[in-house]
Amino acid sequence: MPNISYESFAWWSNYHMTVTRPDVADIGATDFANGDLPPGIVELARIHLADIDGLGPLERLGHIAPVLQGYLAHIAERIANPVFVPGVPHQPGVPFAAGMVGTAWSFAPLIGAPMSQLMCGGLSFVGLLPTSHRNSASPYPADRLVIAGGGTRGRELVDWAEPKGLSLPTSGSFLGPTVAGAAATATHGSRLGFGGTQDMIVGIHLVAGPDKHWWIERDGAPVLSDAGIAALADGGTPPEVRRDTALFEAALVHLGAMGIVAGVAIELAQLARYQRFRIDQPLKEDVLDTIARGDFEALARDLGRTERPVFYELTIDPHAPYGPHALHTLYLEPTPAHQAEQGSAERAPIAGEAVVKMASSLFAHGPSEAASQIAAQDAVAASDPVEDLIRALLDNHPSAFDFYRDTGSFGAAGKIWPPQSWGQLHDSDALTGGVPGSLYNASFAIDRSQLRTAIEAICAAVAPLPGTFVFTVRFVSHASGTLAFTRFPETAVIEIDGLSPFICNKAAAHPDASGHPLPPPAVAGLRQLATVLPAGARAVRAALDGASVAFSMHWGKLGDLDSAKVHADYGPVSDPASPLMRWRKARETLLDDFGRSIFWNPAVKQYGVVE
Ligand SMILES: Cc1cc2nc3c(=O)[nH]c(=O)nc-3n(C[C@H](O)[C@H](O)[C@H](O)COP(=O)(O)OP(=O)(O)OC[C@H]3O[C@@H](n4cnc5c(N)ncnc54)[C@H](O)[C@@H]3O)c2cc1C
Repeated sequence: MPNISYESFAWWSNYHMTVTRPDVADIGATDFANGDLPPGIVELARIHLADIDGLGPLERLGHIAPVLQGYLAHIAERIANPVFVPGVPHQPGVPFAAGMVGTAWSFAPLIGAPMSQLMCGGLSFVGLLPTSHRNSASPYPADRLVIAGGGTRGRELVDWAEPKGLSLPTSGSFLGPTVAGAAATATHGSRLGFGGTQDMIVGIHLVAGPDKHWWIERDGAPVLSDAGIAALADGGTPPEVRRDTALFEAALVHLGAMGIVAGVAIELAQLARYQRFRIDQPLKEDVLDTIARGDFEALARDLGRTERPVFYELTIDPHAPYGPHALHTLYLEPTPAHQAEQGSAERAPIAGEAVVKMASSLFAHGPSEAASQIAAQDAVAASDPVEDLIRALLDNHPSAFDFYRDTGSFGAAGKIWPPQSWGQLHDSDALTGGVPGSLYNASFAIDRSQLRTAIEAICAAVAPLPGTFVFTVRFVSHASGTLAFTRFPETAVIEIDGLSPFICNKAAAHPDASGHPLPPPAVAGLRQLATVLPAGARAVRAALDGASVAFSMHWGKLGDLDSAKVHADYGPVSDPASPLMRWRKARETLLDDFGRSIFWNPAVKQYGVVE
């Protein structure tokens, strides 16, 4: 029988330290001098599965369900018998959120419930769905239909799948997020003609209350046979089964507010190998129009390639979109004609690594060096310390874009890599460079056809800001999920990626590596840099509004998404047919009063997704 362990009053933060427990206000208000300490998350729960290793994948879920149901009964008991401790919000009448955490890569407070948080990484396993458990009418090929625990990361999936001739059809830039956590926010990459990570999910096993678990699949696209459903009852509690497309689509992008995703059925792709191709080639207006039309083969030809692209990502210089440089990354289908051109399999850094480079330099001698350069200059230059600071952080490059261009294996002639699997193309699972909380990231989904208008508007809007960020554009087609933020049939997602306020302020507040306090010009520069990314995200939002480009924002990232915007994009709440109200209706079906009282998080309240 799986079991759950509890870590008490655990101090916790998400991957990029944008959410901490205790939260910053509570830490600041604590009387440390007189021995007080704020408690962290009251119960951090972890599930352990070692003893069900030998079971088939559905039987495992069958044994996991009653354990998670027991966990929810334990929470009900906690709520019924609150213990008063100052600083612990565990009192009658105070709303109690039972949160779930995947890899904690969300920047937004979709994670970080103060009372109770289930760390779902333990729900990690994957196995082929046995033939007897597969519905004979299933449209999903038997040799590619797998069951994975909700806490299984992309990396485990590719490591399991690729030796068996299977592959992930898409992923975000990294394979770190979990299958349930990624789907929760409609995490996407840039696989052409494909949706987001949620689009590979074809069945959902959801634990919704002390006496309720569900198996949900689309109407007309069955996954499990009766024997499969029976296997889900292996632990003694039969699931309720729904073959209901509306319910399924709502639960796909669940925002951590629909119950615990114990497991999912996934349709994997056949293993394929693609050649990464990178080139630095200026972006002309007509090229942007080609991209906006979705003619990626014409784009590839324009970039000098005749193979079919299956992935395309564009990184632009926010200060010169039509300037001399634009960075194109494609994955190409190898052809016999290009066989001789194998290339070398060196690492291909992503844009975020320029940000991490800046962050790492912050704690070496970057700011001090910048300060000495500034001091050696005249008073006018000293009044604007930021450019020198950026150069000091980026090996004398004037901007993050320029650093990425120089270090990312681009080049005017282009560079080709040998054919690689999805797992090889996504060769790293983390991006900290050993520095905490260095990234700020906000993403804006638009109708792809409006790409040119959008890029021109946002670049004009960020022109006054220093170059600590880049814009990257990726593409998503017909994404599933009632609340997928990639809501346009053909979506382009524009991402602003740069140095976080937290890390700039941290560097400003501390001595550098040599132990000397930073000189005032460096501190002033860092404080100024700290304001750039939030200002950039605000400018992008205002520019898109100003140019009448409809957009939605990534649920899991930053940029001050609020309920007015959410209701405008997915509402109105007065219309039962609106996406938001259809999602809420599904939540009412899946969760009873108790479930609705515990399955929420600060973000879904702030977004006005749940009341
Ligand atoms: C370095 C970095 C790179 C990124 N790259 C991309 C990218 O390329 N594309 C993109 O779109 N986004 C990207 N993101 C954002 C990230 O992919 C999303 O925020 C994603 O949702 C994180 O997945 P996770 O497993 O960490 O889930 P978490 O952030 O831990 O959780 C997300 C939500 O899912 C819920 N949840 C998690 N597990 C379960 C479960 N088993 N049952 C029920 N609810 C659950 C949580 O409660 C929460 O509401 C990136 C983030 C970082 C930090």
